[in-house]
Amino acid sequence: MDKVIVSAALTGAATFREQTPYVPITPEEIAEQAYESWKSGASIVHIHVRDEDGTPSMNFEKFRKVVLLIRNKCDVLINLTTSGGIGLSDEERIKPFYELKPEIASFDAGTINWQHRTVFENRPEFLEKLANKMREVNVKPEIEIFDTGMIYNTMYYAKMGLIDDPKYFQFVLGAPGGMIGTVKNLLHLKESLPDGAIWSAFGIGKSNLPIMYATLALGGNIRVGLEDNIYYSKGILAKSNAQLVKRAIRVITEFGKKPATPDETRKILGLRKGL
Ligand code: ZN
Repeated sequence: MDKVIVSAALTGAATFREQTPYVPITPEEIAEQAYESWKSGASIVHIHVRDEDGTPSMNFEKFRKVVLLIRNKCDVLINLTTSGGIGLSDEERIKPFYELKPEIASFDAGTINWQHRTVFENRPEFLEKLANKMREVNVKPEIEIFDTGMIYNTMYYAKMGLIDDPKYFQFVLGAPGGMIGTVKNLLHLKESLPDGAIWSAFGIGKSNLPIMYATLALGGNIRVGLEDNIYYSKGILAKSNAQLVKRAIRVITEFGKKPATPDETRKILGLRKGL
């Protein structure tokens, strides 16, 4: 395949203004950076929202506003997080995608210790409920993999008929508590995938560029953005998500491939036509 899907993870739950003034926080800022990322060549934007003071949030109204603002501006595919914080109820995590029906929502395929501080909890009954609700409203799960066992966990739900083909995996490398961001780990994950899976990967922090280049070499799709990495180069902050997207597009093009358009991405992921 000569098309590469570029996702832009704009805000996240752990990038703060104290670290970088460029992370978008308000719905308007998030929508603006989504638009700029789309203009720069991203076909998916991954969305988190924040309270006014920047605290990670699953506030439904904020999600509604962001989705509306983005939909009014462009046809980029929207991927809403289901993990905008710790200690949330199942309902808080499900409501945004269930009501707003983005093309994609995140499906974190297991529980891990998080940042050596807390537990990122995705209980079996929650994952079953999550998969069911996504199928109900035809939202594609982006299966986030922090450790190899999560691939096998996903296969359990697929066997139950809860996750449809083509399965869409996102490898998260370099999160404290998960797999570290090495090319060896990336290769191992890729080789552990079921046949026919679509996959994408990113490295957090300093593993960002090595994992991006290795992913491209291994035939995967790419995610960039301030959720995962706030630097453009050593010690130099990225000025926007679009700046990181633009570099990814240049790298893809130099490599001899092409970024997938939103419609091509819909086709690759087997999604319904845009709303
Ligand atoms: Zn996220």
